[in-house]
Amino acid sequence: MIKIVKIFGNNSDISQYTVELLREKLLNSDFNVVDSNNADLIISVGGDGTFLQTLRETDFNPKPLYVGIQCGHLGFLQEINIDEIDIFIENIKNMIYNIKKMSILRTIIETKSGINQFCALNETVIREKDLKALHVNLMINDSLVEKFFGDGIIVSTPVGSTAYNLSADGSIVYPTLDVLQITHLAPINSSSYRSLNNSIIVPSEMIICLIPESDYSSDILVSVDGYSTVVPCVKKIEIVSNSNHIKSLILEKYCFWTRIQEKFL
Ligand code: NAP
Repeated sequence: MIKIVKIFGNNSDISQYTVELLREKLLNSDFNVVDSNNADLIISVGGDGTFLQTLRETDFNPKPLYVGIQCGHLGFLQEINIDEIDIFIENIKNMIYNIKKMSILRTIIETKSGINQFCALNETVIREKDLKALHVNLMINDSLVEKFFGDGIIVSTPVGSTAYNLSADGSIVYPTLDVLQITHLAPINSSSYRSLNNSIIVPSEMIICLIPESDYSSDILVSVDGYSTVVPCVKKIEIVSNSNHIKSLILEKYCFWTRIQEKFL
């Protein structure tokens, strides 16, 4: 039963206006609206970028339900339109909704000075720090698949398959499939180098490992859900599906293919 609600917004006027409107309506319906992250439901008001930021700021908490109210640009992940707020509140009061599990990607980077870890909902993108060509060996479960040479590599979850992955010619993955997708960014194919052009889809329990060609001298740009960091002196990057999921609230009318049609076609 949902009783305690936390609302996240962004800096846009429309998000701030909607946050206030939503707070008032939730309080009038006897929900407890709190500032702490300890809530049954976390509502993100904005676009997909705001939804991703909300997850980051709440540490990808597996306990609460997450839901987005769309007042951003694309809003592929945002479940509720602004004009549906009243019916949404009625539905959560009467427990009329479904829950969708979303897997989280964990990136573990071994460097000269220790281990760095990152979580993502959409994807991890690995590039050379100055956007030069990246040389890495791609291993899946300890087997060498290819010596990649090109702009970079995206590893995406099914949720992230409609984000950067899609722009890089990766495939759309149905959200209930438990897989990871490896998509190449501008692979170089010449008489000197050969990489796969197509993306690779593997079961989520497989370990994807990227090993820079030069031990400990590679400075890597890691971008998780669009949040970028340069990690110096990288020896190994391991990307795995986290055993924890986050739970998102979806309305009963949700249809993945309708959303693909509405947002992309
Ligand atoms: P951003 O401006 O927050 O997002 C870029 C676009 O991707 C926005 O239109 C956003 O929707 C949309 N988006 C985010 N997650 C999505 C998903 N799961 N399915 C479909 N569309 C999605 O950019 P950012 O802060 O750099 O990074 C956030 C995300 O943007 C990254 O995780 C990455 O997937 C994506 N991105 C895409 C490209 C590209 O396609 N070339 C390049 C960089 C990053 P809203 O407008 O509703 O926020």
